[in-house]
Amino acid sequence: MIIIVGTGAGGAIIARELAKDNIPVTIIEKGPYIHSKDAFNYYDVYNDSVDLLSTTCVGGSTIVSMSNMVRALDEELHEYDIDISREYDYVEDLIDVHPLDDSHIGEGTQLFLDAGRKLGLNTLKMPKGIREKDCIQCGKCAFGCPADAKWSGKDFVDEAVEVGATFISEAEVTEVISDDSTVKGVKYIKEDVETVLLADTVILSAGAIGSALILRNSGIDAGRDLFFDPFVSVGGYLKDINFNTEVQMAGLIIGKNFVLSPHFSSFIKGNIDNEDVDDKDILSIMVKTSDEAKGYIDDDGEVVKINTIQDIRYLAEGAATAGFILREAGVDPLTIGSTVYRGAHPGGTAAIGKVVDSNLETKINGLFVSDASVLPISPGKPPILTILALSKRLADYLKNK
Ligand SMILES: Cc1cc2nc3c(=O)[nH]c(=O)nc-3n(C[C@H](O)[C@H](O)[C@H](O)COP(=O)(O)OP(=O)(O)OC[C@H]3O[C@@H](n4cnc5c(N)ncnc54)[C@H](O)[C@@H]3O)c2cc1C
Repeated sequence: MIIIVGTGAGGAIIARELAKDNIPVTIIEKGPYIHSKDAFNYYDVYNDSVDLLSTTCVGGSTIVSMSNMVRALDEELHEYDIDISREYDYVEDLIDVHPLDDSHIGEGTQLFLDAGRKLGLNTLKMPKGIREKDCIQCGKCAFGCPADAKWSGKDFVDEAVEVGATFISEAEVTEVISDDSTVKGVKYIKEDVETVLLADTVILSAGAIGSALILRNSGIDAGRDLFFDPFVSVGGYLKDINFNTEVQMAGLIIGKNFVLSPHFSSFIKGNIDNEDVDDKDILSIMVKTSDEAKGYIDDDGEVVKINTIQDIRYLAEGAATAGFILREAGVDPLTIGSTVYRGAHPGGTAAIGKVVDSNLETKINGLFVSDASVLPISPGKPPILTILALSKRLADYLKNK
């Protein structure tokens, strides 16, 4: 039997692939099984010094994602003898990754695309895993999805359960049990009762924080390096643009040290000294960069993030370019401001080459990690597609073992 811990980008696809091949699978998820429209209630709370976004529920953070699906780290993974080009093709086909149909590109997004092209920037429509026929264009992607129009890990959990996988929700895995360096199973707590579940293969896909904490409890040092792809949203006043109800992040500009994408943030309104400014009058752009993995999880399990000089430089370059685009799009330059600095892509805590090998196996035989933890460096781009492709590769490896 194979135990999979967590149902986000890493865990859900492995469960689907193995269960469809009639391999006995038990999925253990800390959060509840919910409707995607309720996902905003399940954001995690970290300490005051770090603004990190993630969720604990079925689907993990994929359920609040914008369903941006971008290939990343291809070259870097080659250094570890990992080629996931076939897996990328497979996953893109499976969840029908495509640029949004023009019917779902709003006016604010179009202004972003036009301004980027006019300024000679590398500008494209964002590849998405969104079903336009269901999408009601409400702008609430990061709240979950009222219309269930986005792909999320929950879709794959449903498919796995349909073909026989066992799904245990609201159960927190605390430790992996091993003997003579070979995995034996896991301990989990559900409704205050501790249970031991035996298995000959365990895959940790509990996310960059969750997997690192389980590894540490199981005698493997992890979580000493952490990145989180920092971002700010920069925006200002553009009367009646109604960008807040558009599909979010439907455009993409790829810079040398940053990416930009149109992204509504209600915090921008608070920067503008005019009571009449409403959410519908804000046009804003997310600036996201690749950061150095200088964060860590401390001995109390708290996330600590250190911003390096290079991290700040990359964000400044992106924010400056976002300002040019906003000006070109017609935003009043006197109103342009930024949100605080946040992260939504924690990773690197059990990196390939450090904690796991190229097959994503730890030093404990039969114990694998497959989620954002294993990414060797910060992608500075949406990581779901890369995690899905790496996890599909692991599923195939286990099938052939
Ligand atoms: C608001 C937001 C928008 C985003 N948008 C995008 C986007 O458009 N495109 C993109 O590529 N990326 C996006 N991301 C990032 C992306 O969602 C994450 O990088 C990705 O989901 C990470 O996958 P994972 O498998 O590592 O972890 P997760 O998807 O977070 O899954 C981890 C799972 O493990 C469970 N878990 C944790 N601890 C335990 C435990 N001890 N026992 C059992 N279960 C446990 C959690 O509940 C969760 O279900 C976004 C993130 C946020 C927060």
